[in-house]
Amino acid sequence: MKIAVLPGDGIGPEIVAQAVKVMKALASDGLKLEMEEAPIGGAGYDAAGDPLPATTLALAKASDAVLLGAVGGPKYDALDRPLRPERGLLRIRKEMNLFANLRPALLYPELASASTLRPEVVAGLDIMIVRELTGDVYFGQPRGIEVRDGERVGFNTMLYSESEVRRVAHVAFGIAMKRNKKLCSVEKANVLECSELWKEVVIEVARKYPEVELSHMYVDNAAMQLVRNPKQFDVIVTGNIFGDILSDEASMLTGSIGMLASASLDANNKGLYEPIHGSAPDIAEKNLANPLATILSVAMMMRYTLNQEAAAQRIEAAVKKVLAQGLRTADIYTEGTKKVSCSEMGDAVLAAL
Ligand code: NAD
Repeated sequence: MKIAVLPGDGIGPEIVAQAVKVMKALASDGLKLEMEEAPIGGAGYDAAGDPLPATTLALAKASDAVLLGAVGGPKYDALDRPLRPERGLLRIRKEMNLFANLRPALLYPELASASTLRPEVVAGLDIMIVRELTGDVYFGQPRGIEVRDGERVGFNTMLYSESEVRRVAHVAFGIAMKRNKKLCSVEKANVLECSELWKEVVIEVARKYPEVELSHMYVDNAAMQLVRNPKQFDVIVTGNIFGDILSDEASMLTGSIGMLASASLDANNKGLYEPIHGSAPDIAEKNLANPLATILSVAMMMRYTLNQEAAAQRIEAAVKKVLAQGLRTADIYTEGTKKVSCSEMGDAVLAAL
């Protein structure tokens, strides 16, 4: 199994180095993993004048999965838009046809005090949001700003084809099958035709997954339920704009950005795995960053692309163990726990593995 390793900028290289340690340990225990590094983002611009150098894209396409750190930094903010680091990320997602974005929101009981919600509401939270990533009002045509009846109007088109809904629904049902066989489809079918179609197609797809308990919820209610009683959810599937908002809301239930992994998958479950946070230039090169989101991204890669469930569980158990041991990077440190650096956290996970 070939993994393209793209550390990127800022804290990217530090956190990815810890995840690579973990993958090397799995490889030395017999998992056939081959890793190759390439630059992306600002590092891609520095190396080849392009935030997504052709060689990096070729490597990503030739690999089974991609592990990415983060991109961006003040050094690159003045570049023309097409040369900015973030553009490299958007392009690689598009080039690889990554239409399903998986955003787990998981709160370890040891970190429950990091949430702004009461511990009993969030402790043990474990939600997976599957967000459609390449359609919806963000891409629908026509769009624009024009003058009508003497004043400017802005307009976008919320649009989903049956095939777009069907493929993301299949991904979500597949994930529900790997978890607790519970799926909630979120839309706004009471007012939007686009959502009406979404709901119909999801119900059609559900016939292929009779073991999964499917429910439906309007997005406004879902936004409320996520803060009222988030533990009622297991897997949520939703469109691009609703998913954009709900996945950020759900991640903040956990209160710790350095702990959250993500994946973006194509139709063959090939995927790009990355922490949800950015390149954190404020703490870059100080060995302070939390590498756990990146290490947990490797666990997701094992589960969803490489079909190595045992390896995924081993990594997740190792992360749980270091948290239970009281080890914390600065971002999740609380009194009474032991503050460790980025590389010390990586070493601790390795030892626990
Ligand atoms: P950020 O996520 O980089 O940082 C927000 C805050 O969280 C900062 O205080 C940072 O120190 C902290 N933080 C983030 N990750 C952490 C970790 N692993 N451990 C400890 N603390 C952590 O967001 P930002 O500051 O808005 O953006 C910084 C740069 O990152 C920008 O150039 C932005 O464009 C880029 N960015 C990249 C991605 C990505 O690569 N996917 C996502 C978001 C932002």
